[in-house]
Amino acid sequence: MFDAILITQDTTAQRVQHTTLDDAQLPAGDVLVRVSHSTLNYKDALAITGSSPVVRRFPMVPGIDLVGCVEQSSHPDHAPGDWVLLNGWGVGETHWGGLAQKARLKGDWLIPLPPAFSPRQAMAIGTAGYTAMLCILALERHGVRPGDGDIAVTGATGGVGSVAIALLARLGYTAVAITGRAHDADYLSQLGAAEVLPRDPLSSPGKPLGKERWAGAIDVAGGHTLANLCATTRYGGVVATCGLAGGMSLPATVAPFILRGVTLAGIDSVMRPRADRIEAWSRLATDLNVDALQTIGQDIALADVIPHAQALLDGRIRGRVVVDVN
Ligand code: NDP
Repeated sequence: MFDAILITQDTTAQRVQHTTLDDAQLPAGDVLVRVSHSTLNYKDALAITGSSPVVRRFPMVPGIDLVGCVEQSSHPDHAPGDWVLLNGWGVGETHWGGLAQKARLKGDWLIPLPPAFSPRQAMAIGTAGYTAMLCILALERHGVRPGDGDIAVTGATGGVGSVAIALLARLGYTAVAITGRAHDADYLSQLGAAEVLPRDPLSSPGKPLGKERWAGAIDVAGGHTLANLCATTRYGGVVATCGLAGGMSLPATVAPFILRGVTLAGIDSVMRPRADRIEAWSRLATDLNVDALQTIGQDIALADVIPHAQALLDGRIRGRVVVDVN
């Protein structure tokens, strides 16, 4: 028997509870993992509250991230006693996820826990931090370099934003934090933000082109924010788009792309090939100051997950939420 968060659905509504399950109920898979830590990401909060149709199959154990120790395996890459890490692959959406003390998974989804990180540190990074690294890799691939100018980071106090700022600062970029939480300016400066700007001016309709301001941008908001970032990115600059915290739309024109050669780089972490994951996690191991994870991550127990999911969507949580499932 093991503890888990379980989402069920009847004809009228979704229900979520902290409950006890039997090993026999676990889905099929070639690796059984004793989970040590999971996290609460934006997508997990949407799934748990039912605010968005993240869960595709019921009943579902949510949790798109996990770290744990292999208990049983018939997969050639993973043996009992190995520490493994999982981000995405539809886990917590179509296959039972990490917000439980056990998970049975496809071995192909697992990568070794990088030795640079403890289980808790890996989950303080989680999908949000791994996505921040994918965004920075995209900026690099399109030629943005430290010293080129300001890099805008929206949703700066959130999970992706916090890790992005810590990484950019450590790599020598000038990170400009854009936030709705002016009272967290000290937190953002401590992570390495060179400047902290309010989110509101960017989130209302703007012009097709504005004054050239950004060498690059990492955007979690979408909507007018993303359109305005594209319109104010310098000639040849790059905007990495990974989120929709401010909306799904993109009310933009082609002007920044055809007149300034701006690149809009789409970032998906969920189905990312294994080689890209290994690259991102090895760059996190070398480029992230692990002391920053103490500032970014807060710890909760499995029993605290359900109330924290609503708090996260309400904007009442800063940084990353690590769940010690035991
Ligand atoms: P968090 O909830 O930790 O952070 C989101 C942040 O966005 C908030 O803290 C807030 O920061 C900001 N925000 C909230 N509402 C708005 C708004 N209306 N307009 C602009 N900004 C807003 O989430 P994560 O950092 O984990 O994820 C951020 C986004 O990225 C989500 O949409 C998530 O789904 C997406 N994502 C996508 C991935 C991918 O593979 N493409 C992977 C991971 C995340 P502040 O108060 O500082 O402004």
